Amino acid sequence: MPPASTQPDVMDKLVSLCKRRGFIFQSSEIYGGTGSVWDYGPLGVELKKNVKDRWWHAMVRMRDDIEGLDAAILMHPRVWEASGHVAGFVDPLVDCKTCRGRFRADKLEDARCLQKPSKRPGEAEQCQLTEPRQFNLMFKTFMGALEDSASVVYLRPETAQGIYVDYKLVLESTRQKIPFGIAQIGKAFRNEITPGNFIFRTREFEQMEMQFFVDPDGDHMQWFEYWKAERMRWHHALGLADARLHFHQHTAEELAHYARAAFDIQFDFGGTLGFQEIEGVHHRGDFDLTRHQEYSGKKLEYFDQPTNRRFVPYVIETSVGADRVTLATLVNAYREEEVPGEQEGRVVLGLLPAIAPIKAGVFPLVKKDGMPETAHRLADDLRRHFPVFYDDSGAIGRRYRRQDEVGTPFCLTIDGQTAEDGTVTVRDRDTLQQDRIAMDRVREVIGARLEATAPA
Ligand code: ATP
Repeated sequence: MPPASTQPDVMDKLVSLCKRRGFIFQSSEIYGGTGSVWDYGPLGVELKKNVKDRWWHAMVRMRDDIEGLDAAILMHPRVWEASGHVAGFVDPLVDCKTCRGRFRADKLEDARCLQKPSKRPGEAEQCQLTEPRQFNLMFKTFMGALEDSASVVYLRPETAQGIYVDYKLVLESTRQKIPFGIAQIGKAFRNEITPGNFIFRTREFEQMEMQFFVDPDGDHMQWFEYWKAERMRWHHALGLADARLHFHQHTAEELAHYARAAFDIQFDFGGTLGFQEIEGVHHRGDFDLTRHQEYSGKKLEYFDQPTNRRFVPYVIETSVGADRVTLATLVNAYREEEVPGEQEGRVVLGLLPAIAPIKAGVFPLVKKDGMPETAHRLADDLRRHFPVFYDDSGAIGRRYRRQDEVGTPFCLTIDGQTAEDGTVTVRDRDTLQQDRIAMDRVREVIGARLEATAPA
């Protein structure tokens, strides 16, 4: 059991902030919404993109031993037989005949009766649960004009299989040598029985996965340890607090039958949700490639020239949800605080500047004396380098608060002095400190501060 959360539950406040400020909306809201599917609004799409870019930068761009890939969502149906998903990607489902709720039989501990929320399903009097039945989580659809069993295809429930089936092609086209990895970011779909907790568990989501191919007779356990440490380092570099992160080792019951070792990186989401998986680091042995070799009839062995050996490589997988990590950055960043000398407090998203959707707010102090024109010129110049937001409406304090709430690290104000000496004030979101700097140095100063927080 993970340790209990010591962090407050900010989820409801966050859901409302995300809607109000354009981070995340419920899908098809005007039709009453679609169950646990979410849309990223103007600020959310930037935040999530920044998270994905940081992953791609660390996992692909900064390394010469990992190649990128963008495999298709629809794959040959045999892929999912080989991977074990057709037979085994199931959750046990139970229905309550009284409250009409539908629950995962293995997660009843965390569930609540729909009629009596103080009780767990099955606990309330007269509450009758059906026998568990196995429910496959893959979404099925048809390819082509005929809707028959021969045309069934699946929406992929994970991106990993695209990597395994393309592994030989990547190897041959890049002339990589083992150990090496393949990374990709893409959508995955799971018909979850109990989705929820905002974007934590949804039916359509995005994964960032990397499969690292290693010599089965070599130092594969060292590589496993390496990737555990490396991935934890990445989450820290994203600004997630130390105290909110830890490893959870899979117990014998949790471990997939083919897996040699597995750890989850868990993040403390606060409140009752508490510590939950955001990433899995798995030692998958040679299970996947062996199965694809068997089902496709194509050799997926690697020939190791120096030792003159042929073998099916072992795979170390790192698999992280882009949406879940984005949620973690939001939960981690949300704070309410008092402001010295002011009556009203403020809400701040203390996002790492490198992932904040807007890097700088640009404000003319008043709408006269040429200030708006100067502010527009500055905003247009900065826009070529990073996202900025021009705002000339309302009191300056209000404008600052609006940017604090969406995590903008810097605010630049053009005032009367700007026309005299060419300086503007730079206000820091976290320290509230205001410094005057020359307008023609703003890009350089902010650029340097952003660079300093860019996680590698
Ligand atoms: P869980 O036990 O939470 O269902 P899992 O162990 O099935 O997750 P994996 O198959 O290891 O998850 O997927 C890797 C990562 O993909 C997870 O750590 C998570 O970040 C993300 N992920 C998986 N399922 C979902 C989902 N339904 N919604 C959002 N993200 C998900």
